[in-house]
Amino acid sequence: MTINLYNTLTSTLEPLAPSDGTTFRMYACGPTVYDYGHIGNFRTFVHVDVLRRVLHQRGIITRHVLNITDVDDKIIRNAAAAGLPIGEYTPRFEKAFFEDLEWLHVEQPEIISRATENIPEMVNLVEQLAANDAAYQAEDGSWYFRIAAFPEYGKLSKKDLDGIESGARVDVDEYNKNSGSDFALWKAAKPGEHSWETTIGTGRPGWHIECSAMAMKYLGPSFDLHAGGEDLMFPHHENEIAQSESVTHQIFAHHWMHVRFLLVDGRKMSKSDGNFYTLRDLLLKGHRASAIRMLLLSVPYRHQLNFTMDGLAEATHSIERLRVFHDRVSKNSFPAGENSALDAVIAKSTTDYDGALSDDLNTAEARAAIFEMVRAGNIAVDQGKMFAGNRERILALLERFDAVFAVLVDNDEEITREALAWAETEGRMTQASEELVAQLSLTEEQIDTLIAERNQARKSRNFARADEIRKELADKNILIEDSKDGVSWKRK
Ligand code: AMP
Ligand code: ZN
Repeated sequence: MTINLYNTLTSTLEPLAPSDGTTFRMYACGPTVYDYGHIGNFRTFVHVDVLRRVLHQRGIITRHVLNITDVDDKIIRNAAAAGLPIGEYTPRFEKAFFEDLEWLHVEQPEIISRATENIPEMVNLVEQLAANDAAYQAEDGSWYFRIAAFPEYGKLSKKDLDGIESGARVDVDEYNKNSGSDFALWKAAKPGEHSWETTIGTGRPGWHIECSAMAMKYLGPSFDLHAGGEDLMFPHHENEIAQSESVTHQIFAHHWMHVRFLLVDGRKMSKSDGNFYTLRDLLLKGHRASAIRMLLLSVPYRHQLNFTMDGLAEATHSIERLRVFHDRVSKNSFPAGENSALDAVIAKSTTDYDGALSDDLNTAEARAAIFEMVRAGNIAVDQGKMFAGNRERILALLERFDAVFAVLVDNDEEITREALAWAETEGRMTQASEELVAQLSLTEEQIDTLIAERNQARKSRNFARADEIRKELADKNILIEDSKDGVSWKRK
């Protein structure tokens, strides 16, 4: 089934297919590693992860490039404040970024590339732009892109750029919503700032040029898809197009995917507004990584998502339901045979699931399709109407679901322990995280031993000891459930 995805460039849904017939070449703008990422940033990365996973599920091979912005105004400012050279300042945030991705079950792109390792490629692009009269050098030695040299400027964002003052310049890296000015390609060195000695002078790259250079280095002059958060559409992506196409005279990226914002109280979650949660903040409050991923996927990428604690609780609950159902089906055996009514539900859920993802990666409907099956499956198990044939199909569909959603495998506790270990070494423990440590102080083996002891106590009718153990576990947020299949436990 073809995947249709909205293309910002053409404002229509268009099918995705590798234009070279073999490999889908895609580029996603990566993080600026000046601080820890907030979950708004991760909303974008998680949805790009959905795209690559769906492509893989449909048998399409990807060559996916992610850049790391490890030199820019913010990095220079923060590194200076920390009294470190940028090369010593950024690695801890880069490491944290990849750890965060792993915790969110985001797959690693095929290619990861740092801005600082691509300076010659960027210099080369500026030289080619200068040769085409699309770049000029200002008195201070900085290089600017001449917007007037690219008549199609604005074609991605459809901005009315009539008001552009010819020759007006911007050189800040920060997002600049309304300006359609000549923008910095290369900034002349300033005292105390990190710089490179190059054939276009001593300085450092502007922000936009790195993505053109890295995308074309790894994917060629013209590739399949470019992705990023909605704030990057203008001017960053517009500038990438202008820089690249002014050199190659080919379409830079055919398809543009923009992930809309994660909001808090109706406003964009952002560092500068201070209304943000890092992934680590949430993990250290006891929220599960899988629930955060599920929450970020609960609304399709082309709609904004308002972050609330209630939403996070709902995501936690829905994962619990899925996992319990998965255990119920996978850990039990059912009589030979078939419940054809249930089979019909499974078949419909499968079609709906694939159809939803094909329709502009509609994760909300894909998820709803799976829950239809969960509901019918639970009823069938309750009524003794689940059979071996149904079981296989359900497990196959859950696997298909999880190849994209990646929330069924439960390593939440391990992730929380890793986050706590990080907080400990970074001196970031809070009262909430201390409480979490106390709750997690019992390992799974210790819990199993206590439960075995409780079973023994109950057998020998020592109910006082059995209750004592239940209470000891409850104090650590561990709930015991007695059922006819035996005793199970879970962390609250
Ligand atoms: P940055 O590290 O600021 O360059 O951002 C990394 C990625 O996160 C970019 O693709 C941004 O567009 C995206 N992003 C930033 N804030 C949000 C938000 N509140 N919601 C969704 N994506 C965001
Ligand atoms: Zn970029």
